[in-house]
Amino acid sequence: MLKIYNTASRKIEEFKPLNDIVRIYTCGPTVYNYAHIGNMTAYIYWDFLVRALKMNGFKVKRVLNLTDVGHLVSDADEGEDKLEKGAKREGKSVYEIADYYIEAFMKDYRALELLEPDVLARATDYIKEDIEAVDKMTANGFTYETADGVYYDTSKFAGYADFAKLDLKGLQAGARIEFSGEKRNVSDFAVWKFIKPGENHEMRWDYLGRPGYPGWHLECATIIHEELGEPIDIHTGGIDHIPIHHTNEIAECYAAYGKALSRYWMHCDFITIDGEKISKSLGNTYSLADLAERGFSPLDYKMWVLSGHYQGTRNFTFESLEGARARRLNWRNRIAECYQKNEARNNNAKKFNFDEVLAAVNNNLGSPEAFAIINESTLMMDDWKKVDELFGLRLMADSPDIDDEVRKLINERQKVRERKDYAESDRLRDLLAKKGIAVKDTASGSVWHYVE
Ligand code: AMP
Ligand code: ZN
Repeated sequence: MLKIYNTASRKIEEFKPLNDIVRIYTCGPTVYNYAHIGNMTAYIYWDFLVRALKMNGFKVKRVLNLTDVGHLVSDADEGEDKLEKGAKREGKSVYEIADYYIEAFMKDYRALELLEPDVLARATDYIKEDIEAVDKMTANGFTYETADGVYYDTSKFAGYADFAKLDLKGLQAGARIEFSGEKRNVSDFAVWKFIKPGENHEMRWDYLGRPGYPGWHLECATIIHEELGEPIDIHTGGIDHIPIHHTNEIAECYAAYGKALSRYWMHCDFITIDGEKISKSLGNTYSLADLAERGFSPLDYKMWVLSGHYQGTRNFTFESLEGARARRLNWRNRIAECYQKNEARNNNAKKFNFDEVLAAVNNNLGSPEAFAIINESTLMMDDWKKVDELFGLRLMADSPDIDDEVRKLINERQKVRERKDYAESDRLRDLLAKKGIAVKDTASGSVWHYVE
């Protein structure tokens, strides 16, 4: 039985899908720059959620969106569109920027062995549907027009503050000084933005007789409506999404379709780096490519992420990443030993029971507890296969069990040694070393292990 923390109820609940197929939506990246390692944590945890669901026998349909329009630098309704900003920075068109950073994101995504979403939805492919949704919200009496766009009147939705437990009175009072514009309530937000004459906004669509573009939150409400149908089973994102983005998605869904958006909501916490917030000014916006330059594989980073709980605040250091790298290498070498001996019994270790790992995972995605069980037990080859399926760490893929070329080299070296052709045996040893495999000759034959 899988139990997860539901942000909507602030409780750990047993997960029960509405239908046979679990429908999941993950808020995806804004594709205007390279993703930093903090951004990638969410996709790692939600991939793990999908794997855990599958391991429990559920079928899953998962949608991930790509925000290529409408996300302003402030997360609210002011400031430049992040995509337009990226285009200016690089002297390219907004569409070129989106294409380029989508490709970069997907490269990282795949390097982390994350399962492909069933639908990868680009916000700009749903503009017609966005407009239909705004029309519905307006027909249902939830919007008003200002010089700046079509705004959502949050006072019309009685449950607006519930999800994030917002203190609307406090917000209103706090904002009194600067809150003077045409907005009726401080929490009102743009569902559609107008482009003012002379304003440089390349992505534009005609609506209400003027050029404009969708507000940020709308794409998620629309894509969910089109691709999954509400209420979906699980909606995921970072904790920063709770007070604005997810609150507004819920409000839009209610206004347009009169329905709840999702039954369960899951949010992962932020990581810091060397105790600091991730920010450009601190120069710590490391990408996976930056980690690779320092000799770490994306899967070492994934190992680091999963060794902590998705709801914990975590501090990243290169030392702790080194620890995760060593742990992954240790696991791969335990598999290598298993492969060579057909078993890898450690007399002090307890016999592995995959059900215990699954029970830890089923307790609100307890990956750290699951890792501890794996560290303390003796696993056989079939056990490791399941572990790899559950965490997606590519522990097995490099095993000579699968890699014929490496296996041939190891076998050939064995034969050459038996012939006492030491020069050839040394040459083969060097070749294997280049593939990250060290061979040691013992009285009972050679054994090998991974060195990287
Ligand atoms: P963006 O692509 O800029 O919209 O960022 C995507 C998401 O990455 C944010 O909304 C957060 O949920 C997540 N994120 C940003 N910084 C961090 C961090 N330091 N740790 C974990 N997640 C983060
Ligand atoms: Zn979203």
